[in-house]
Amino acid sequence: MARKNVAAGNWKMNTNISQGIELAQTISNAGRDKEVLVILAVPFTHIFALQKKVKTSSKVILAAQTCHHKTSGAYTGEISPTMLADMKVPYVVLGHSERREYNHENNSLLAAKLRAALDAGLKVIFCCGESLEIRKAGTHISYVKTQLTESLFQLDAQEMKNIVIAYEPIWAIGTGETASPVQAQDMHAAIRDMLRKKYGKRVADNTSILYGGSVKGSNAKELFGQADVDGGLVGGASLNGQEFVQIINSF
Ligand code: PEP
Repeated sequence: MARKNVAAGNWKMNTNISQGIELAQTISNAGRDKEVLVILAVPFTHIFALQKKVKTSSKVILAAQTCHHKTSGAYTGEISPTMLADMKVPYVVLGHSERREYNHENNSLLAAKLRAALDAGLKVIFCCGESLEIRKAGTHISYVKTQLTESLFQLDAQEMKNIVIAYEPIWAIGTGETASPVQAQDMHAAIRDMLRKKYGKRVADNTSILYGGSVKGSNAKELFGQADVDGGLVGGASLNGQEFVQIINSF
């Protein structure tokens, strides 16, 4: 996938189905100032209804918020990547800090999930990012490098076409505290440099890297204006249709 402007909404465990349909319709019906890939990471329970009721075309596409690392079996309550592919869901989010924290997803499990997702034909928004403690210690870049090295960098250059990276400092998620545009740009440039060293210039130049962490209508323009910030993964503000449309039109 060539590098694109991407606005991805992460609804987490929010909305009922009718609220989800209304929200997705507001987003898909809104005018666009520029070419933007809009991805909505919705609860599993909403996927079928949204596919039926909302024009999920090139204007808005869907993502799941996680998937299992096996294709089938005795894993009660889990959803496999092949099930998502069967439902024609194009993207899955992997490595979100909430999954890492509450579901104990570590780098090696995420490597297995990435492998399974790509083998099923899904594209992946892969999240990384450091805690406040690590940021204060000044080791955030090497921490993110380890996250990527131990999971994402098992993929080959060809497979990286199916990856969007989301840098999400944990201290900025749902806290109202946003990384400054300079902090975001510094990390994004460092990630692009890691991609260049691992895969070469072509992959580095073509991989979209999103910023996530309290992106709002009021700060999106400045964040998205940074050279290496290709868009956002947005939690709270993606639940407000008008605000998310404002974010989509901030490129
Ligand atoms: C997220 O959940 O990925 C996120 C960035 O949340 P928020 O925008 O609410 O900080």
